[in-house]
This record gives sequence, C-alpha cells and structure tokens, in this order.
Amino acid sequence: MRKIKFLKYSLFIIVAFIFILNYFKTYRIYNLPFNLPNQLRASTIPPLGTFMSKQYKNSKQVILHEKYHWVQYEKMGLISFYYEYLTEYFKKGRFNHWMEKEAREATIMKKVSK
Ligand SMILES: [Zn+2]
Repeated sequence: MRKIKFLKYSLFIIVAFIFILNYFKTYRIYNLPFNLPNQLRASTIPPLGTFMSKQYKNSKQVILHEKYHWVQYEKMGLISFYYEYLTEYFKKGRFNHWMEKEAREATIMKKVSK
C-alpha cells in the first residue's frame, strides 16, 4: 500500500514537471558525454530540450536543425508534436519524415533565428 502511494506521488511529480516545462517552453541544449546510438547526431525531446552527441556538440548545422524541431514543437504543441512525429516515423522512417525534411530545408535557408 505504501509502495502504491509512493508510485502515484512520483508519477504526479513527473507529470507536473513535464507540464511546467511545457508551459515555459525554454530551449536548452544538453551536451552528452557520449555519442548517441545509430549515428544520431542529436535528439530534441520536448519539453526538455536538445541532447547533443559528444562528436557533434559544436556543429552549428546540427544545432540549427534541432532548433527547428523546437520551433515545430512550439507551433504544434507537445501532444501533436509527438503524435505527428511518431506516426510518420513508423510509416516512413526518419529520412523521409516531413518534419525532418522541413527542418533540413530550414537549416539550409537559415530560417531559424533564435
Ligand atoms: Zn531532425
């Protein structure tokens, strides 16, 4: 019984934390001390921020690309962002994903200003 109470309380804290971060939408970059698997250069995980692979931590291109994913998140909101990203990801994969294409184009055009 005490364990269940503890789990409920922990879950509430985590959900509250996610909602607070989602409210403020502050962009953060975390430089990981290791490389991400599958040659992933970085990963943007709203509402936390961008996690950069060790190898690419100074790459302006990668940062611009990931910042554009943050712009997409700001436009779409948390739920829609994950819904769109994951449904399309499982259908078409990462490379042909429309959000990835949009982010690649934005990086080339340097549409990201923040
Ligand atoms: Zn991307």
